Amino acid sequence: QVRVRFAPSPTGNLHVGGARTALFNYLFARSKGGKFILRVEDTDLERSTKQSEEAMLNDLTWLGLDWDEGPDIGGEYGPYRQSERNPLYKQYAEKLLKLGHVYRCFCSNEELEQMKEHAKQLQLPPVYTGKWATALDEEIHDELAKGTPYTYRFRVPKEGNLKINDLIRGEVSWSLDTLGDFVILRSNGQPVYNFCVTVDDANMHISHVIRAEEHLPNTLRQALIYQALGFSMPSFAHVSLILAPDRSKLSKRHGATSVGQFREMGYLPQAMVNYLALLGWGDGTENEFFTIDQLVEKFSISRVNKSGAVFDSTKLRWMNGQRLRALPSEELTKILGDRWKSTELLLESEGTFVKEAIELLKDGIDLVTDAETVLLNLLSYPLESTLASTEGNSVMDDKLSDVVKNLISSYDSGELYEALEEGHAGWQKWVKNFGKRLKRKGKSLFMPLRVLLTGKLHGPDMGGSIILIYRAGICGAVSKQVG
Ligand code: GLU
Repeated sequence: QVRVRFAPSPTGNLHVGGARTALFNYLFARSKGGKFILRVEDTDLERSTKQSEEAMLNDLTWLGLDWDEGPDIGGEYGPYRQSERNPLYKQYAEKLLKLGHVYRCFCSNEELEQMKEHAKQLQLPPVYTGKWATALDEEIHDELAKGTPYTYRFRVPKEGNLKINDLIRGEVSWSLDTLGDFVILRSNGQPVYNFCVTVDDANMHISHVIRAEEHLPNTLRQALIYQALGFSMPSFAHVSLILAPDRSKLSKRHGATSVGQFREMGYLPQAMVNYLALLGWGDGTENEFFTIDQLVEKFSISRVNKSGAVFDSTKLRWMNGQRLRALPSEELTKILGDRWKSTELLLESEGTFVKEAIELLKDGIDLVTDAETVLLNLLSYPLESTLASTEGNSVMDDKLSDVVKNLISSYDSGELYEALEEGHAGWQKWVKNFGKRLKRKGKSLFMPLRVLLTGKLHGPDMGGSIILIYRAGICGAVSKQVG
């Protein structure tokens, strides 16, 4: 049975790279009818926080990547937090000691530093060459009796190669002579990361390890531990890095990189998931739009690219716009209406006003939050006071004084509002007459009207905008704070 895991370290936010790793694992599991497991790798006690764990779980849930076993829901092979698995690590460390794959190393930090210095001077790789690899039993007993602190070191074969067949990168091989005996248990009893991962992957019956390329060097150590413990090795698939547009490693200086940031900026989870899947994967056609179900159906590891994938936030934004506009109108109404109500822009989250606002805005927005900005701009425009005070306003160009004058008289006489009362048809009729009266049409008519009536040079459909502004004033849906 296919069993894969996503194993985040709760030391910060879930980044797009981690989210993509989680997604590929999820898609692989779901496409194979397997299990997707969540394991929290909190061995770094100083940097791991509960807060970060919670936020990561929330982000994964928001993306729709539900897991079958994990710290919150348990499962057959728990606990699913490494900090709760120490007895198991200890047990396997003892087993390796008994089998002779591991030995106690009593070297002090100073001694280890000296060894490194020495190797450097001789231009040798800084591998462990301490005496404890070959110490006699009496020497060990002496140190134990003295209470000297010790680590557990893994005995690496001094020659030969180790090969794995990575599902994405093909054959990867390492020569063993440069590795050196590495620590698996620190002198304070804390197990080391590579050791925990191996024990856990084996005990949780993980069939495929799909993770970031940066873990490839760890795979060598982990493979040696698998062999020594007599576990069969999972298949490995190392996914390439996510790069910034300049092909450097994607980092904070390139803008938003965490899933939470994108959520707050108004991205939809379905757009995130869709875009993340395209970072290194494609179905072999030109098609770039996939729902999560379609991804499950089409995903295969063999189509995952081994070169780095560029994270293009402009494309993600565009894709979000496409997805947003394609939502069924009830869903869009719910998302935007709820948002406007919760940000206290509107007093209601549904109703005619909300529907009309969405109809007007939806073509011009890529993000949920864009709609908020445009709506706020419209609603906070002081139409009445602008019209009441525009007469003689020196800001207005002389060339436009006819527009200003006529607009004010149309407003004063009530003609403008009567027209708006009739909605689009009324507005169209009004504009036509107004243009005729002033002998203006096209841009020379619409530009000044737009500025005077909405306060902006650009925006959504002008008739729709001004009708909405007018309705906002009478429908009671707009919160008092606006305007
Ligand atoms: N805890 C590791 C990380 O967050 C993942 C290790 C793995 O997938 O093997 O990068």
